Amino acid sequence: MSAPATSTALQETPCCAHHPGQEAVGTCARCGAFYCEAESIRHGEHTYCESCGGRPEVGHLERLRQELWGKRDGWAWLMLASAPLHLVFTVGMGMDGLWHWSVLGAANTAVVVAWFLGVPLARPALLLLPPLWLVGFTLKGRDLGVLALLAPAMGLALWLYASTRVRLFFRQEVDLERLERLWDARENNPLARHALVCGLAGLVVPVAAPLAMGLGVAGLRRVNLEATPPIGKRQQALAGLVLGGLGLVGWTGFVLWRLSQGLPLLP
Ligand SMILES: [Zn+2]
Ligand SMILES: [Zn+2]
Repeated sequence: MSAPATSTALQETPCCAHHPGQEAVGTCARCGAFYCEAESIRHGEHTYCESCGGRPEVGHLERLRQELWGKRDGWAWLMLASAPLHLVFTVGMGMDGLWHWSVLGAANTAVVVAWFLGVPLARPALLLLPPLWLVGFTLKGRDLGVLALLAPAMGLALWLYASTRVRLFFRQEVDLERLERLWDARENNPLARHALVCGLAGLVVPVAAPLAMGLGVAGLRRVNLEATPPIGKRQQALAGLVLGGLGLVGWTGFVLWRLSQGLPLLP
């Protein structure tokens, strides 16, 4: 704190932001400040200054990063599962002499297998597939009705490209803000979110209503704002519980009314 700013500015190597006498060995992955050897804190692939590295949210977010780094998600296994279908299409079209479809099929096969293997190029390559199919269809003189098929595929490809979970599988850099959102979705009381989804579903599908109530109660019991990191989403759990209750009352009333009228349960 006492060192004059001019003396540090003239030096070739930067100084530690917290210890002006010490030479900096890197910059903090959270705040960007220079840190010295003595205060650096490593979490997996990243290094932080002393004050950031000691923050509880950095600890749990880095734990999540390490847990998912290079680890396949459901989409990776789905890609592998689709590979035989792509291969059958490729070979079948080739045997019929439709080589352009065969080449497109081969490109699909290569991308899904590379995706499963975690080859980094597969992530951007997936974005090229729907446009390639569009070109293929257009060259064959199909009308633009195929867009109805290709638009959802393109949407999925874009979503997968942007997904933090997918980035971690491909060992791509992810900042703490993205990690925080992923942590919130995966680890911060997912039962409460399931309760809300089931509560809404329970208004249409009877069996989901009691399930929503059970999940709501379980989600409420998980809430612990004193924990490190704090576990929240009380409102979502409560909403699931209330919607589940309303669904159950509504469906029970419906069944009793049908029975009292001597009507069959299913219209
Ligand atoms: Zn820092
Ligand atoms: Zn220092």
